[in-house]
Amino acid sequence: MQPAKVYFTDFRTRPGRNIIKKFRSLMNKAGLSDIDFEGKMVAIKIHFGEPGNLAYIRPNYAAEVVALIKELGGKPFLTDCSTLYSGLRSNAIDHLNSAMKNGFSPLAVGCPVIIADGLRGIEYREIPINLKHCQTAKIGSAIADADIIISLNHFKGHEQTGFGGAIKNLGMGSGSRGGKMEMHSSSKPRIVGENCTACGICIDHCSQQAISLSEQEQAMIDEEICIGCGQCVALCRFNSAQVVWGQSAEVTTEKIAEYALAVVSGKPNFHINIINSVSPNCDCWSHNDAPIVSDLGIAVSYDPVALDKASVDMVNQAPFLTASVLAGKGCEPGDDKFTLIHPNTNWRKGLEYAHRIGLGCLDYQLLIES
Ligand code: SF4
Ligand code: SF4
Repeated sequence: MQPAKVYFTDFRTRPGRNIIKKFRSLMNKAGLSDIDFEGKMVAIKIHFGEPGNLAYIRPNYAAEVVALIKELGGKPFLTDCSTLYSGLRSNAIDHLNSAMKNGFSPLAVGCPVIIADGLRGIEYREIPINLKHCQTAKIGSAIADADIIISLNHFKGHEQTGFGGAIKNLGMGSGSRGGKMEMHSSSKPRIVGENCTACGICIDHCSQQAISLSEQEQAMIDEEICIGCGQCVALCRFNSAQVVWGQSAEVTTEKIAEYALAVVSGKPNFHINIINSVSPNCDCWSHNDAPIVSDLGIAVSYDPVALDKASVDMVNQAPFLTASVLAGKGCEPGDDKFTLIHPNTNWRKGLEYAHRIGLGCLDYQLLIES
């Protein structure tokens, strides 16, 4: 198999050639216009960012993708599915308000913004995949019904998959509420009792009412009710609610790959990783910790696996920033930064599985554009 082509440009600019112009050139060079967009509905899958997080993708990038697709005759819309956990993107109303607050208004981006899985996250299509973990994938209707898929991804660390790029945005991000439950359900958290201060934050925010206080004044999780959404892990400031990984971390990444394959199968698709503000964790958090490397650039490809592999390789080859979470972790040049930060994750297994099921290629040719 031929290596997949990944096109990359850095963030250097000069008068008359700003980053938006470079971005458009990159998309053209990579052959985005080879797709027949005429009259087609084009889902641009994006993460609008949880309010309070400032590492998410600037709307300006989305606006440029939209402008190019419209020039090519397509009907683009920006889209995402709502979250499983409580927060400011857990239903279509809150999610749209959050998107607008973060700058993704139709006026700014030049197209409609549609929450793909409806008002309460239950509008989905079941796409047959018949793979190791999932027989079908429950994909938000607006994404499932689109003719063409573009993923516009902020590349960063992720607490469950090591890093988040195209595959994470496509797979987990396109799952409806039920789909997200299916992907999360093998990784339920546990409470480490000695750390628990009984602050009650996890209890207040558990959408399933699965947490209560024991007689010893420690949080405890009812595993029968828990759906493994990870919200309590995200909210606990005392490292008491922890994800139980092991085998299940790999299963989660494999399920995400299966869902990503369901999203793109049989449709023209193209993928964009913006590698800046590379925060240690997902944009689902309402804060973003300091970036772990300098802003590197933009990578695009028809192949989401090759794109993510090229992106993770570039981040791992870059010097780490000393004012980041990596300080004091003994990070050497070339070390796997994402595994240092999230030692219980295994992004390599996820990429290998994505390759095995036919989502894309692990070998890539990096073509640098100035
Ligand atoms: S948020 Fe953490 S410290 Fe607070 S009750 Fe829950 S587990 Fe305990
Ligand atoms: S206990 Fe389970 S359902 Fe509740 S917030 Fe934690 S992971 Fe989610």
